[in-house]
Amino acid sequence: MQDLRVVYKTLLDFYGPRNWWPAKTTFEMMVGAILTQNTAWTNVEKAIANFGERLSPEFIETVSQEELGEIIRPSGYYNQKAIYLKALTAWLKKYSYDLNKVMKNQGEALRRELLSVKGVGRETADSILTYALEKPFFIVDAYTKRVLARLGYELPSTYDGIRLLIEGKLPRDLDLYNEFHALIVEQAKSFCQKKPLCEGCPLGSFCVKKARQNSRKEALARGKK
Ligand code: SF4
Repeated sequence: MQDLRVVYKTLLDFYGPRNWWPAKTTFEMMVGAILTQNTAWTNVEKAIANFGERLSPEFIETVSQEELGEIIRPSGYYNQKAIYLKALTAWLKKYSYDLNKVMKNQGEALRRELLSVKGVGRETADSILTYALEKPFFIVDAYTKRVLARLGYELPSTYDGIRLLIEGKLPRDLDLYNEFHALIVEQAKSFCQKKPLCEGCPLGSFCVKKARQNSRKEALARGKK
C-alpha cells in the first residue's frame, strides 16, 4: 500500500493543480457545497447562474422558499435544497453574515455548528470548512473511498473513521487537503471510474486492484498453456 503523500505527488505531477473550488465568492462556495449534493457539478453551475447578481445571504434570507426553489431547480431536490440554503443562511446570520467573524472560530467548533445546520452532513461540512472557511478537514466522498480502497487501503466503515485515517497519514495542511481532494475527484472521473480504466492510469504502478487483476490474467494464461 503506497504512502498517501506519494499518491498525492503522483496525482499532482500527472494532472497539475486543479485550482478548486470553482466559485467567484466564499458564499458561492458554501451554496455550491449544498447544491452539489446528489447531483453533477454541471447542474450546480446552472443553478448558480440562475441567481445572476443576486447571490448573497441577504437575498436568500428574504426570497420566498418557493422562488428560491425555482432558482435552484436545475440542481435537483430543489425544494429540500431551498430549505437547506435558508438554514445555512440563518446560521450565518448569527455572525451578521461576516465570514471573517465565522473564520475566527476553531475548526472543530465550526464543524460542530455546521453539522447542526439542517441539510449539512459531514461531507458538506468538510467541503465548506476546507474550501470556504480555510479550516482543514479531509473530505471523504464516494470517489475517495473508491480510489483508496482500490489502492489497497483498508477503510473503516464510518465517515469520520476514514477521515481520521487519512488525516493521520498526512500533514495537516489546508492547501494539501484542498488539492488532494480535487485530484482524487479528477482521478475517479478520468481513470478510476466505477468500471476502472487502468490502462495509462498514473497510480497503476502501485495499485493493489490492478496487481490482482494482472495476477488473475497471468494465472488464466498459464492455465490455457
Ligand atoms: S490502476 Fe485502475 S483500479 Fe487502480 S487506481 Fe488506476 S484506474 Fe483505479
